[in-house]
Amino acid sequence: MVDVLARRDLPDPRAAVTTRGGVGDLVDLVAAGGVCVLTGAGMSTASGIPDYRGITGRARPANPMRHADFVASAANRRRYWARSLVGWKTFGEVEPNDGHHVVADLQRAGLVDRVITQNVDGLHQRAGSHDVVELHGTLATVSCLDCGATVDRADLQHRLRARNPQVAERVGVISADGDAHLVADADFVVVDCHCGGPYMPDVVFFGAGVRRSLVDACYRSVQDCRSLLVLGSSLFVWSGLRFVRRAAEHDRPVAIVNHGPTRGDDLSAIRLDDDLTDVLAVVRDRLVPTPAPVPGSPGPVPGSPPHRSASSGRRDAVAP
Ligand SMILES: [Zn+2]
Repeated sequence: MVDVLARRDLPDPRAAVTTRGGVGDLVDLVAAGGVCVLTGAGMSTASGIPDYRGITGRARPANPMRHADFVASAANRRRYWARSLVGWKTFGEVEPNDGHHVVADLQRAGLVDRVITQNVDGLHQRAGSHDVVELHGTLATVSCLDCGATVDRADLQHRLRARNPQVAERVGVISADGDAHLVADADFVVVDCHCGGPYMPDVVFFGAGVRRSLVDACYRSVQDCRSLLVLGSSLFVWSGLRFVRRAAEHDRPVAIVNHGPTRGDDLSAIRLDDDLTDVLAVVRDRLVPTPAPVPGSPGPVPGSPPHRSASSGRRDAVAP
């Protein structure tokens, strides 16, 4: 199995970026429609979820949970769920930011055909995007490794809290994977499936592969689209880079908006190193002056802000 999350040679995240084109070029690209959007951790940093490879220069934890380790060891699962219990308190409360809302607006306006995300936070869907492909799975559900039963992560949280009230009070620092570091777990009680099997989050851990059918569907989306727009991903893992390669092979222009260098820079027609939320706000203002109403909703109230969003102050809610 190919480890799609394997780390490659990581350039300095503060290295100079050779930009190509400007926001106006990006507006023209999106205005043509048929856009396939690919998003990474940088998409959710404004919601307060840290991006390990972004401009903050933070390194990914030295020992991220690997798939094989989770499956093989009850002690590893205890460590994971203890951290997850603490991390979920924050992770479960994060809100989509303006960037997520712009992507949803562009999709409602018929300009974005498909959203593929490497994030597991579900924020695109909560902002109103539909048919989102979650390449690395989702933290919203967990499944039993033995019988395959699936339950909501939020429901599991209640059960974990009930069994571990002392751990639930602890404070940790969440990661992009939704767990928390620095949580002692010696006294933690894991909650298992009713069949006795262990639960596992429905995410792709390090050392695991993305389902082939999902990858093929993404390849088709990339080939069927008119352009590929990469938002907030350094493309340092093959999981996302392969779609940039595929787009380039099929002469689909690639636009990348990301702080810091990416592995797809050489393949991009448009390359912006600016703040993601600011760039997307310009694109929406030029192309969707009035946010499209959500089906079934009365639409924005005159004089009210068009979007509910996470304020920039939320960054501080989860200090590095
Ligand atoms: Zn089970």
